Amino acid sequence: MASNQVAKKTEQQIHWIHCNVCFIMYMRKERSLYLLACHHIVCENCKQDYVPKSSPKLQICTCPLCFKLSKFSEINNSMPKILKDLFHPEPWKDGLNNFQIMMFQSKHRQRYLDYLDAKFAKIQEHRKHITQLKRQAEATGRLAEEIKDERRHLENRVRLIQEQRRMSDDNNKNCLSNSISSSSSDRSSHLGRRVRPTPTREVTITSFTNLTPTHSFEL
Ligand SMILES: [Zn+2]
Ligand SMILES: [Zn+2]
Repeated sequence: MASNQVAKKTEQQIHWIHCNVCFIMYMRKERSLYLLACHHIVCENCKQDYVPKSSPKLQICTCPLCFKLSKFSEINNSMPKILKDLFHPEPWKDGLNNFQIMMFQSKHRQRYLDYLDAKFAKIQEHRKHITQLKRQAEATGRLAEEIKDERRHLENRVRLIQEQRRMSDDNNKNCLSNSISSSSSDRSSHLGRRVRPTPTREVTITSFTNLTPTHSFEL
């Protein structure tokens, strides 16, 4: 097996090593990790508040998980062999106490899987929440469109009513001005009119005496 393949396989086999408090992975090499005598693993940051102020050089701290006062050792190639074997990528080899090692590794793997499960469940919950928010946003968008339509409709109605009122005002003005001009014309014609004497009918009374018989007749 090529050396890079071995390195990759080893990397996969130790991919479970993490701080039991903040779950940062050893492979990220962001900060040092420590194995405590209680077999919990903590990082530099998570350990610092638990190191007794009176004896910082004793390499002991209170475990933030089980609260036992424990010795700790940094996880690296320089740690004591008996502790380093706990992280062996193939514990069934080299005549190791593989039961103890596999129990240790299995417990940490399970802890990390539980953490991933919880994280996955949280992500699912967030996704559900995001979907709900999207639906709410879509409903709000639809409502906004309906309100816009309603507003356009109301504005049109207001314009129409204003137009009708303006036309009605114009009509009223025209009627009023017609009425004024008509009544003033009546008044002026009434004032200027002269009363004519009523023509007397001339009745000509024809006197019998004036009748001149034009025909003669016999009884
Ligand atoms: Zn940590
Ligand atoms: Zn502990």
